Amino acid sequence: MEGEKNTNGLNQEPKIIIIGAGIAGIAAGNKLAKQGFTNFKILEASDRIGGRIWSIITDEDGNKAEMGANWIHGIERNPIYQIADENHLLQLRHKDKSFRRKEMFISERGEVVSERLVKAVDFDYGMLLAACEEFFCNNVPTPEDNDSVGAYLDREMEEKLEKFSNGDRHVREMIFAQRKLLECCISGCDDLSEVSLSEFGSYESLPGIHYTIPPGFDTILDILRKEIPEENIEFSAPVRCVNWDLGPDSEYPVCVEMESGEKHYANHVIVTVSLGVLKAACDRMFNPHLPTEKQHAIDCLGFGTVDKVFIEFEHPLVEEDVFRISILWDNEQPHDTDLPHSWYRKIYSFEVIHERILVGWLSGKEALYMESLTEEQIAEDCVKVLKKVLKKDIPAPLRIIR
Ligand SMILES: Cc1cc2nc3c(=O)[nH]c(=O)nc-3n(C[C@H](O)[C@H](O)[C@H](O)COP(=O)(O)OP(=O)(O)OC[C@H]3O[C@@H](n4cnc5c(N)ncnc54)[C@H](O)[C@@H]3O)c2cc1C
Repeated sequence: MEGEKNTNGLNQEPKIIIIGAGIAGIAAGNKLAKQGFTNFKILEASDRIGGRIWSIITDEDGNKAEMGANWIHGIERNPIYQIADENHLLQLRHKDKSFRRKEMFISERGEVVSERLVKAVDFDYGMLLAACEEFFCNNVPTPEDNDSVGAYLDREMEEKLEKFSNGDRHVREMIFAQRKLLECCISGCDDLSEVSLSEFGSYESLPGIHYTIPPGFDTILDILRKEIPEENIEFSAPVRCVNWDLGPDSEYPVCVEMESGEKHYANHVIVTVSLGVLKAACDRMFNPHLPTEKQHAIDCLGFGTVDKVFIEFEHPLVEEDVFRISILWDNEQPHDTDLPHSWYRKIYSFEVIHERILVGWLSGKEALYMESLTEEQIAEDCVKVLKKVLKKDIPAPLRIIR
């Protein structure tokens, strides 16, 4: 775009609008500013930057909880890792207590399961998950038509469990089921039967370990934002429509219309809203409509619901060395299948962050149902679970954050 001519023939810097101040919008603004562009504006619907990156301070020591992104997934070719590393944000990692804490595996009846047994099942499970990737990677047909990861894992695991009986088999089944709930959160699905076995290996993981950012994921945003003048970001500015082909008679080819009715004219527009927003509003958001292949991609791509629920207590609930309570739900026990009485059975673990705060993860329809509940109801249900699992009285939490 450097030296680009405006349509009025003058050699002016182009006007650029960026829609959304999530990390994509902020990174775009950072790049433009670094290249010397000044005539750009980021329009953000909410009152903060970050979108699905949202670190909130939880206590007077400044400890943070990540409401959104939490991990840097891999090192090689990962720009987030590069920024975090260059800015020494990962140095604190060695002081992070979670590196020397233990994971407890407890059945819903409160029975602690040995780490040795968990490791044995995990080994088989890990091998099977790796085998799921092979179908795509080696272009091998799946054993059955339209095979799913869930169906394949169940069939293969059944073979491995055949040699065990009674309680021994049962506890292995519970560990296996817990691992599947975890994978639902990783794959972003309600159930692994929704995940195509033939495509599972198409997800490319970046090589390297998965870091967290102890000072908060939002520090990455702060670093990128430094290059962007404050007045270039407009908050509480929801965009309604992008007219992106105004024709040769117009001074600018793009007119971005706000919900407020205000109009911004520009030479270029960079749209960074999420797939969910595009699916919901694509028809009315672009005039003319997007080219067919873009529309097709928006229609065909899918996404699921993965939620975290943070529960803050007045005092720590578990010993200092415990960093996670993994719950082994007993699917052979009779239980209500109604969502009001079963949604919490999708929570596969409660992780300890900053001593007094636990975070539970869940996905799918149970996560959606949780979103409809009051905080009091969520607190009541989670306390019920923790009471059963930890076999002790659990005080009412101070607050629920979600
Ligand atoms: C719970 C959770 C956990 C996650 N964990 C990880 C993780 O551990 N590691 C990882 O790498 N990724 C993780 N992710 C994914 C990661 O957070 C996202 O991929 C990333 O933040 C997306 O950034 P984005 O800028 O593309 O979109 P968004 O963050 O969605 O930003 C889009 C912005 O556009 C704004 N907007 C929408 N509509 C309009 C409009 N009409 N007008 C103006 N503005 C608008 C929104 O308010 C938002 O600020 C997680 C996501 C979630 C939800």
